[in-house]
Amino acid sequence: MKRDEVLELLRDASPLRHEELRRRADARRRDGLGDVVHLRGLLEVSNHCRRDCAYCGIFRGNREVKRYRLEDADIRQGARLAQARGYGTVVLQAGEDPGLTRERVAGWIRWIKENTPLAVTLSLGEREDEELAAWREAGADRYLLRFETSDQELYHRIHPDLPGRRSDRFLLLKKLRGMGYEIGSGVMTGVPGQSLASLADDLLLFRELDLDMIGVGPWLPHPATRLPHSQPLDRDQAPQGNVLALKTIALARILCPQANIPATTALATRDPREGRASGLLHGANVLMPNLTPAERRSSYDIYPDKAVLGDRRDGDEESLPAWLVSQGRSVGTGPGGRRRG
Ligand code: SAH
Repeated sequence: MKRDEVLELLRDASPLRHEELRRRADARRRDGLGDVVHLRGLLEVSNHCRRDCAYCGIFRGNREVKRYRLEDADIRQGARLAQARGYGTVVLQAGEDPGLTRERVAGWIRWIKENTPLAVTLSLGEREDEELAAWREAGADRYLLRFETSDQELYHRIHPDLPGRRSDRFLLLKKLRGMGYEIGSGVMTGVPGQSLASLADDLLLFRELDLDMIGVGPWLPHPATRLPHSQPLDRDQAPQGNVLALKTIALARILCPQANIPATTALATRDPREGRASGLLHGANVLMPNLTPAERRSSYDIYPDKAVLGDRRDGDEESLPAWLVSQGRSVGTGPGGRRRG
């Protein structure tokens, strides 16, 4: 698939062509990966953050956020729960929190690897090379770091650098790959100032980077963020909402047939009834049920009214396998790493 075709499909508003694209992605997913859906238990381990991203609700300057950092016991309990529920992976995600020290995180990873069969995925933002290497050494398998947008002017505007340090997520992804991590990246769709042309570039980059995991969700305006909450009237502005996010997921599946692609929480938040199911129908093969202790979940407030698989309208964790079967899918076993070849 060439850039022209990708862009044309992103711009096309016809529901018929959307459905055609969806079927193509769904067939690609079925042929390449079958009906298996991998479950990754998500632990939001800290909402402290040193950055001031314009798109995210837990940016450093937001005084309204009640900050927390999970304890060792929470991590152990979360990992045990993931194992008991038959998930193959636990994902440790957080704001960019220097309080999550190299040793602390390495200790968590070692404990999980010694006491469970789970794969460990990290999503802790832009950290030092030594930290990333130590965590890999401790046994971490994968790292998620979305590049958010390939439009560099937009990226640096919504994701300000730390003093004296230019943020370069592409360079970090390359280093992570070199350390032996499976790498995941992705973008938000519908960010004010994001053009459909840049989104086409993002998609081609997914393929060029040969990503093992690709996360795409709609941008959800958080009341505390400084981005405009409505869209500029630019002809090529990427529109808000699930339609564009779903088309982007479908295109990602067609371009990267073997990548692991989740039906993201943002999709489910935007559309609590259908979001996850439609993600799975557009090429996704992964779900990430939330394992964060209930009293902390609402504090990991990256966007408002975050859908939490487990306590919302689209079913609880216990009934998840049955729900997947009702969708014509089955539950993955084992770590569910990226398939190659
Ligand atoms: N601190 C880590 C994890 C961030 S949360 C990091 O920066 O990588 C994971 C992802 O959620 C982000 O990469 C971003 O793409 C997405 N996200 C953040 N705020 C959002 C919002 N308001 N709406 C939709 N997605 C959002």
